[in-house]
Amino acid sequence: MKQWQTKDELTDLLCSLVQYQSITGSEAEIAMAENIHSLLAQKNYFKTNPRHLRLHPLDDGRRLITALVKSAPDKKETVILLSHFDVVGVEDYGSLKNLAFQPKELTKEINYRNDQMPVSVQYDLKNGDWLFGRGTMDMKAGLALQLSMLEKAMDDQFDGNILLLSVPDEEVNSKGMLEALPVLEQIKKEEGLHFNACLNSEPSFSKYPGDPNYYIYTGSIGKILPGFYCYGKESHVGEPFSGINPNLMISFLSQEIELNESFIEKIEDEVTPPPVSLMQRDLKEEYSVQTPQAAVAMYNVLYLKQTVKELNDKLLKGAEEAAKKADAYIQKKAASFQKNVSDFSIPVSNVKVMMFEELYAEAVKQYGEEEIKRRQNLLVSQRDKGDRDFSTLLVQDLASLCNDMAPMIVLFYSPPFYPAVSSSKDPYIRNIITHIQDDAKTTHDISLTDASFFTGLSDLSFIGTPSSENKLEKLTNNLPLQNNGFVFPEDVMEQLKMPVLNVGPLGKDPHQWTERLELTYSFEYLPGILTESIHKLFNKKMQKEKV
Ligand SMILES: [Zn+2]
Repeated sequence: MKQWQTKDELTDLLCSLVQYQSITGSEAEIAMAENIHSLLAQKNYFKTNPRHLRLHPLDDGRRLITALVKSAPDKKETVILLSHFDVVGVEDYGSLKNLAFQPKELTKEINYRNDQMPVSVQYDLKNGDWLFGRGTMDMKAGLALQLSMLEKAMDDQFDGNILLLSVPDEEVNSKGMLEALPVLEQIKKEEGLHFNACLNSEPSFSKYPGDPNYYIYTGSIGKILPGFYCYGKESHVGEPFSGINPNLMISFLSQEIELNESFIEKIEDEVTPPPVSLMQRDLKEEYSVQTPQAAVAMYNVLYLKQTVKELNDKLLKGAEEAAKKADAYIQKKAASFQKNVSDFSIPVSNVKVMMFEELYAEAVKQYGEEEIKRRQNLLVSQRDKGDRDFSTLLVQDLASLCNDMAPMIVLFYSPPFYPAVSSSKDPYIRNIITHIQDDAKTTHDISLTDASFFTGLSDLSFIGTPSSENKLEKLTNNLPLQNNGFVFPEDVMEQLKMPVLNVGPLGKDPHQWTERLELTYSFEYLPGILTESIHKLFNKKMQKEKV
């Protein structure tokens, strides 16, 4: 018997999923995978085919889940339904925090406090059917809908197999998806499957306040996280011109990279925001009258079709410009100082700029590869830091060995890296989009707007077709963590890549305390639209050039 089909059933399922407080990294994130597993284990299909329902451990003990429903023993065609079951934290809920995971109660309370709510919330409360709560929109509603599709598959409604994949850690490092790739590859081999496409159900994001569009997406935006390690030369406060302050270097860098328009990309209606720094600090641990020796900044850089090399060139150019300006500034200030102190000679300042791989090569030249490997391995074995700080530490160790190169700015990268992917030019996906749009129009009188990129970052990045011919060496060679406890799985990605699309529910304010899901579209119309999408993904006619 099917239990997850009607609007009420889906709402109840969603509320039960939201009740698991599966914040990324928490115990409940592990319990959530087990919860999905036990929900599905009660189904007759999995009682008969227990090996098709599996929990797979990540190397840190968290788990991801796969559930395969085959339409016939020798059927190859398979659609992957992808979701993440982790959610972001709830500190922002303030006095409503204890209701963040109780959607019905929270919605009641927000209704009750209507006049204290932001105007957009008041408007929605008056004009629609909304459910509030952490994870309602991002993305447990998508998971609930996919479970309902899986139920249809068990009822033999699709002419192909459905493989549900639900992962943790999407909101932080996407470790769940990265570790799911070899699992998918293995299931594909064991069962002799062909993956037609991967369908994600992240929610439709509004592009501006009041945006009335319902979006479906044929790709996902890319993101890199460059770091700049500024290595200066310390000095006593009484003799500032005898050294160079990395805090000064990094301030010039900030002016070159922060909001830099040369990174902005516009493809059709999509415009990427320019870079912003996510952290910037010196690495001095205690107060003293000595200037710091090093400082680090990391930037969020989003992209659509640029290659890693193009982005790298721009970042390098920014650093070179910053180095030049810092040098000129010091010369000017030293000249002013000289007017007061006649026997003061103006120092030569020459800030160098290099890539991490150049610093590494220099360290190897001076100390030998074996010694450098030994030092890096030792740091890995003693690691007590997250990806960002540990990447910085690996750079710092090499920089301290090559301190004769200082002052310098070293450009490196840290995880996470989300490749930009898009199937917007793939005729198979194009045909399907056209059909879904026509169907939504005739059945529900809804216009679905297709967008080439989901701009909220998603796990489709690791499974879709890259949006440009993109060689990743520039990134992996300058990723200190690569092979130091982290591997960006370029090879598996190359083997697995497939058409992608995202058809998901409608919501507002993801990652905010006003996160909410619109129930009429999401649970009344969308189940039909999703069902139709899956039918079309199995329809051989869609694969041909023009239908
Ligand atoms: Zn999400």
